[in-house]
Amino acid sequence: MNEFDLIREYFTWPIKDPSVTLGVGDDAALFSLEQGYQLVTTTDTLVEGVHFSASTSAKDIAHKSLAVNLSDIAAMGAKAKYYTLAIALPKIDKSWLQEFSDSLRQLSGHYQVSLIGGDTTRGALNITITMFGMVKNSKALTRSGARPGDGVYVSGTIGDAGFCFWKLSNGLIPSNQELKRLNCPTPRVELGLALKNQASACIDVSDGLEQDLSHILKTSSVGAVIEVEKIPISEALLGHIKDTNDWSIPLCGGDDYELCFTVPEDKEEALKKLSESCNVNITRIGVVTESLGLQIKGFDGPRKSYQHF
Ligand SMILES: [Mg+2]
Repeated sequence: MNEFDLIREYFTWPIKDPSVTLGVGDDAALFSLEQGYQLVTTTDTLVEGVHFSASTSAKDIAHKSLAVNLSDIAAMGAKAKYYTLAIALPKIDKSWLQEFSDSLRQLSGHYQVSLIGGDTTRGALNITITMFGMVKNSKALTRSGARPGDGVYVSGTIGDAGFCFWKLSNGLIPSNQELKRLNCPTPRVELGLALKNQASACIDVSDGLEQDLSHILKTSSVGAVIEVEKIPISEALLGHIKDTNDWSIPLCGGDDYELCFTVPEDKEEALKKLSESCNVNITRIGVVTESLGLQIKGFDGPRKSYQHF
C-alpha cells in the first residue's frame, strides 16, 4: 500500500459542508469564508510517549487528537469547521489505521468538522491536527478581557484526567470513567460558542488550572483569588484529597479540556441559564482582582504544572 492508497482508503470520505470547494486529493484544499467572519486557527501535536502511551488504542488517539483542537477553537468562542491531519506512522498496520479512521470520522461527523487535507510520512507515531473555525468579526473570546470584579468560573469537574494519570503512574487501576477523561476528553464546544456573549476571557484547561488561569491573568494584566474548596471535583478525587490533603492534582493536572473563564458581574445571572441550556455544570471558584498574581486560598503545598521543556 503506497501513500496515496493509504490516504484514499483511510482519510478520504464525502464532505457534506458546501463551503468546502475542494477537499482531500489536490495540492491544497479550498473553502469559502462567510462575510463578516474571521478565520480562527489552531494546531496541536500528539506524540507517543508524551501525550499518550504505547498501549493507548487507535480509537482513543484519534478521538483525543481531534478533541484537543476542538477544545482550543471552543475556548475562542468560535465554531470549528475544517481540519488537516499530518500523521507519522512507524509502519502500515491496516487494522490500526481502520480503527483510527473510524474513530476520527465518527467524531468529525458528531461535531460537523470536515477533514480537508493532510500528509502522511513514516516515522515515530505522532499526529498533528490543524483546525480552522469561524467567529463573527471581533466576537472571539481571548485571554485578555478579564477585569477586576469578574467572577472566575470553570466548567465540569477539574482534575479527573490528572488523577487518572497519577493512578497509572503509581501502579493503581483507574476507573473507566477516569480513563475516559484522560483518553477521550469531551471538548466544551457548545459552551464555548455560547460563552462568547457572556465571558470576558476564556482558556481551555489543558496544562493545569493554576497555569492556564495564570495565562488569562497575565494577558489581562489582572490578578485573581480562588478557593480550592470551591473547585468542582469528582467524588473519587475528593476522597484522595481528603486522605492526602494534597490539592496539586486539580490545580496542576493537565488534560481536563474544561473551560476556565471570567464573567462580568452583570452577566452572571444569564450564565446560569446558559449552564442549563448547554447541560454543563459551571462553578464560580473565585474573583478577578486588581492586584496582580493568582492567590490560591486553602492550599500552599508543593506543586508543579506541566511544562514541555
Ligand atoms: Mg488551549
